[in-house]
Amino acid sequence: MPLLVQKYGGTSVGDAERVRAVADHVARTRRDGYAVLVVVSAMGKTTDDLIRLANEVSVTQPPREYDMLVSSGERISMALLCMALAGLGVEAVSFTGSQAGIITDTDHTRAKILDVKGDRLRETLALGQVPVVAGFQGVSTDRDVTTLGRGGSDTTAVALAAVLGADACEIYTDVTGVFSADPRVVPDAHRLSKISFDEMLEIAATGGRILQLRSVEFARNHHVPLHVRSSFTWEPGTWVVEEDESMEQAMVTAVTHDASEAKVTVTGVADRPGIAARLFRALADRSVNVDMIVQNTSIHGTTDISFTVPKVDLAVSEEVCQALSDELGATSVVSDNEVARVSLIGAGMKSHPGVTATMFETLAADGINIDMISTSTIRISCIVATDKVEQAVRSLHAAFDLG
Ligand code: ASP
Ligand code: MG
Repeated sequence: MPLLVQKYGGTSVGDAERVRAVADHVARTRRDGYAVLVVVSAMGKTTDDLIRLANEVSVTQPPREYDMLVSSGERISMALLCMALAGLGVEAVSFTGSQAGIITDTDHTRAKILDVKGDRLRETLALGQVPVVAGFQGVSTDRDVTTLGRGGSDTTAVALAAVLGADACEIYTDVTGVFSADPRVVPDAHRLSKISFDEMLEIAATGGRILQLRSVEFARNHHVPLHVRSSFTWEPGTWVVEEDESMEQAMVTAVTHDASEAKVTVTGVADRPGIAARLFRALADRSVNVDMIVQNTSIHGTTDISFTVPKVDLAVSEEVCQALSDELGATSVVSDNEVARVSLIGAGMKSHPGVTATMFETLAADGINIDMISTSTIRISCIVATDKVEQAVRSLHAAFDLG
């Protein structure tokens, strides 16, 4: 019997009625001839509420206790869904991440999955029952409950689909799939029916908030086809699959944007070996996730280095740069919070020259200044002013005929 892993996000199990709708859909999928394993997120904003509660109780939050707390939201969903399924006459058994045999490292709040035992899940499936697994969590090699980072239920689902050899991993959410741009910004954005893992990775990394980045990496590495779709309309959504010839190689597939990063510039640093290494090691030591980096060609032996970091890491980054300023010979450290990134993504870019030029021309026609540029084989990103980014997305979407 083919096996589907179905993952339901927070809004999909947001209240009692939604939980019952999910149970109906699981029952229907089984009647269609599939074995089903379900992964659930916490209901609605439960995880945010738990984090707020912790903040109200204490600023001191030992990571072990934090994980014990925030992992509890998923337990509520899994038990309720099993009850709803039982009410429909479908035998279902809930499992915490630990009971499901999801073994992680000891890096609390952002643990990585090391191994998935999954014996109990296999036994449950063999009995014709539906395992319902709490997403976002596992148990560490030190036997403590861990969580996988915000949005981690996606990764749970993909990991289980990989280990159990599922035919597909369906990610149910409150939108009908992956779009050519954010429909709130571009009203004529269209749903993509099929995209490659590499495109999805770039979309997830540059602002498409649909899937946790790690879950896409996992799916690509383990060849798990993903189907992103809505639990409100149940219509077919977007397939994320291996790139193949049948895929139309559109020059540009999607335009994304992201205003979650800030820019830091260290000016006048000495242009000699070891300077960048010193700076970025210091940032790494403070767990700052540096993204785009630009260094100018040096003039008279000095150069400027600019980079972007998550806005939440800006204060720490400034502190690190200031502290190193003398040692690097820097003349100043300047930061800019009002920046955003607009990106073009498309596997067809590899074989179509001129995409970059059209992008820059489009931004120029709108009078939008480009602050920083970075590229990969299938992506071009520009940093622009925050208040210009939505205009940039709309113009680029139109320029590449994505509507
Ligand atoms: N409930 C967790 C979160 O909000 C995990 C998830 O939903 O994927 O991040
Ligand atoms: Mg999510």
